[in-house]
Parts: sequence; C-alpha cells; structure tokens
Amino acid sequence: MSTMGDGTRAVRAGLPEPEQFEPTLPGPVFAAHFHLSGDPVGPYTYGRETNPTWSHLERAIGELEAPGEDVGTTVFASGMAAITAVLLSQVRSGDAVVLPDDGYQALPLVREQLAAYGVEVRTAPTGGDAQLALLTGAKLLWIESPSNPGLDVCDIRRLVEAAHTAGALVAVDNTLATPIGQRPLELGADFSVASDTKGMTGHGDILLGHVTCRDPRLTADVRRWRKVVGAIPGPMEAWLAHRSLSTLQLRIDRQCTTALALAEVLAERTEVTGLRYPGLTTDPSYAVATRQMRRFGSVVSFELADRDTAERFLTALRLVDDATSFGGVRSTAERRGRWGGDAVAEGFIRFSVGAEDPEDLLADVEQALDAAVR
Ligand SMILES: *Cc1c(COP(=O)(O)O)cnc(C)c1O
Repeated sequence: MSTMGDGTRAVRAGLPEPEQFEPTLPGPVFAAHFHLSGDPVGPYTYGRETNPTWSHLERAIGELEAPGEDVGTTVFASGMAAITAVLLSQVRSGDAVVLPDDGYQALPLVREQLAAYGVEVRTAPTGGDAQLALLTGAKLLWIESPSNPGLDVCDIRRLVEAAHTAGALVAVDNTLATPIGQRPLELGADFSVASDTKGMTGHGDILLGHVTCRDPRLTADVRRWRKVVGAIPGPMEAWLAHRSLSTLQLRIDRQCTTALALAEVLAERTEVTGLRYPGLTTDPSYAVATRQMRRFGSVVSFELADRDTAERFLTALRLVDDATSFGGVRSTAERRGRWGGDAVAEGFIRFSVGAEDPEDLLADVEQALDAAVR
C-alpha cells in the first residue's frame, strides 16, 4: 500500500483480509469483557485495554500516518485525551516542556496543570523559530502546525533536529492538516497527535483523538496511560471514524481546493484584513508550508473591522453554520473572540470550508460580506 495514491490508501486503510460471508469493515464490537480462560493474555481481555474495533481503526490511522511503516497508533476518546496522554505519560515533576503560546485554546489549561505538578513550562509562538532558544534541558517540545486559530506554520524538520540534539522529544499536533496533509513522523517527530473530531472524521458528529509513534516504547507509554485514565473511545465512535476515513482524500481534497479559492476571493476584498491560509502564495507561511505539507487544510482565517461587522457577516451567511470546530463537510465559521481564550481581534473569523459546490459557497460569502459592510 505504500506506493499507492492517497485516495486508494484511504478507502482500504485498516481493512482486514477478506473473509467469506464477513463484511468488508467488521461492525463495532460492543464488549466490556471477552471470553478468557487461563492466563489473562490478549489480544482481547477487558474493554478498557483493547477492543477489535479500535484495532482496525488504529491500523488504518497508522497506514495514513506512515505508509508502509510499522508504527503504533493509540486511539482516544477525544483530542485532549490524546494530547494529555503524551504530555502526562512523558513528563515528570522537575522536567521542562516547551509549548506554543498561540495553540489550541485548551492548552493554557494543560499548562496550568503541568505547572501544578511541578513541571517547568516554557512557551513560544508557533512561527519564527523562537522555540530554538528554549530547548536546553527540555524533555519535550510541543508543536502545533498549522496553529489553531492563527494558521501560523513552523519548520518542523528544523525544530525536530534542534530538539533531538538537545535531547528533547517532539510531539506535533497535526489536527489541522490531518495525515494526508502532513506526516509529522516523516518530518522526524516522535509523536503525531490529533483531534480526529475535526477533518479526520469530517462529519461533526463524533469526538475522537489519536497518537501515532514509531518507537514501540513510546507507544507502550501512551497505551499504559490510556489504561490508567480510561480515556477510551466507544466502539461505535471508533467504527464511525473508520468508515469516515474511506472518504478522507475525497473530502479533504475538495475542502482544500475550495479553501484556496475562498482565500483568493477574500484577498481581493478591501474589508478583509489579516487573511491567513498557508496555501496562498502571498501567505507568510507559504514557503515553509509547501516544504512540509501535502495539502494546506480546510481552514481560512481573517479579520473584519470589528465585532459587529463580524457578527453581521456570520448572520448573513446562508450555507455556513455559525459553530465552533472545523474540518467538517458542512462549512462552519465563528467569531473566535467570543470564547475569550485566543489572542485574536474582536472581528477575527475562523472559517472552515466544507464540501459544498465551490461556486455556491463563494457566492454566499461574497453576499454576506456585502451585507455585513453595507
Ligand atoms: C479541537 C482541537 C483539539 C482538541 O480536540 P477535542 O477532540 O475537542 O478534544 C486539540 N488540538 C487542536 C489543534 C484542535 O483543533
């Protein structure tokens, strides 16, 4: 499968060998425990440790994260469960970690928790390589690229090299790109982490997360942590996620193409400022993004004059739901400042491009901008 295209890989990812009279993708297995006589050895013993539906999904995600390689993937109940599994299974009191100061809005909560456990937390913005100055003595460098919601990009390969030289592990939050947009393990990272609630599953109806590692010892740490805290996905969610992966390339390709078209339309509008999309040739991240990304994602961010203009724009949209999250087949947008957690202007919009016909979506955005500024 490693020589196949992304679409072929996506539709077949994680499928078991064909078995007469069995479905292509076995249905969800609902079990708290499994028949088990004698010594309690796996693969399937108790439902907090392992489940065959997770196994299929984990194999599928591994094939997308590192085609043709033997990697270990662990699925979790949410992206935050995956993120904290990496951090809390690796760091001890007295260790230092480097986190982004412009990353996902729950990271400051993680930061507080780490500090309460006696971990030294150093922070740096995603863009501009400021992380390089903070690596001495660090146990782990956490990268989120592209960052949410600012869409800054950092040079992952370069930071990984510096971190490894300094003896630090590197984890990349790859939520925005998904594995068909960017493969952190190929760029040298030790952990590829994502909220699969977003583009990876793409329908806005389940929460899920995963961690993929090449080093079996790191996988064992992460799996042990899942067992300790019990942050496990339900079998139904895991099965729905696997089913959704078959359309990953179709969805993301469509969404990325329309996202670029939207960014190009917005670039022409004088009422739009602070436009960011890593795939736009004029974007400050374009050069680095093209070196490490294979697709640039479905999210476009920009600013309108103020809070009221942004709210009028969101209200005037007909095909775009005012909702948080991103990466789904139905376009969503929100005024990110309403949450209060991100350092963004009051008129800042995070726009997630869905799978609608591009001309319908672009026309809707143009009419909503006209309505907002009138
Ligand atoms: C949404 C998100 C998370 C958290 O994921 P949940 O599935 O909501 O727990 C983490 N990182 C990024 C970049 C996200 O966008």
